[in-house]
Amino acid sequence: MNEALANALVALKKNRFDVYYAENREEAREIALELIPEGASCAVGGSATLDQLGLLADLRSGKYRFIDRYDFASQEEREEKLRLGLMTDVFLMSSNAVTEDGLLYNVDGRGNRIGALAHGPKSVIVIAGRNKIVPTLADAVIRVKTVAAPLNAKRLNCGTYCQEKGHCLSVDQGCAENMTAGCASRRRICSKFSVEGMQFIPHRIKVILVDDDLGF
Ligand code: SF4
Repeated sequence: MNEALANALVALKKNRFDVYYAENREEAREIALELIPEGASCAVGGSATLDQLGLLADLRSGKYRFIDRYDFASQEEREEKLRLGLMTDVFLMSSNAVTEDGLLYNVDGRGNRIGALAHGPKSVIVIAGRNKIVPTLADAVIRVKTVAAPLNAKRLNCGTYCQEKGHCLSVDQGCAENMTAGCASRRRICSKFSVEGMQFIPHRIKVILVDDDLGF
């Protein structure tokens, strides 16, 4: 385990998150599944990490009442599923960054993911690879603007400045450290900003840190 990961585990625990260490992807998947009761209602935030772990297939197995946000016949149905996801027993997501002093930093376009993290689902399982760990919140802001958002914009084909350049417009404008600075695109994916600093409801948020690179 590298020093950054070890620091993050200790700091998250100090901030009252339930913390798990996974040596590899398979162990992370097993830990996550142990945390989901059979028959539980479940939803997910958009996440390359969950895809890479194969957890979507597990959630679709029939063992759970999965509100599948990727399966919809209309935009209305999609919106309804995203809303229902905020009231589930279990919500699964990754985090755009995890700091060595125990913070979860996330940036959303719509906000359903950080909404669920903040309040709603009875249990939230956050799974993050070691590549998401940064020293401080300032580094987390930069990470999103230079790694997470450009790659997500590419994945979603948003046509934003960062999709083309590989970094946020605010980097070229010299104000990358300003959390909310960015482009004016209608498809901007950086609209809502969340710092989860300490767990208020005991055992609600579980963080699984994986000793492998996952997602972006
Ligand atoms: S604000 Fe715009 S350019 Fe900057 S990272 Fe977000 S989507 Fe990309």
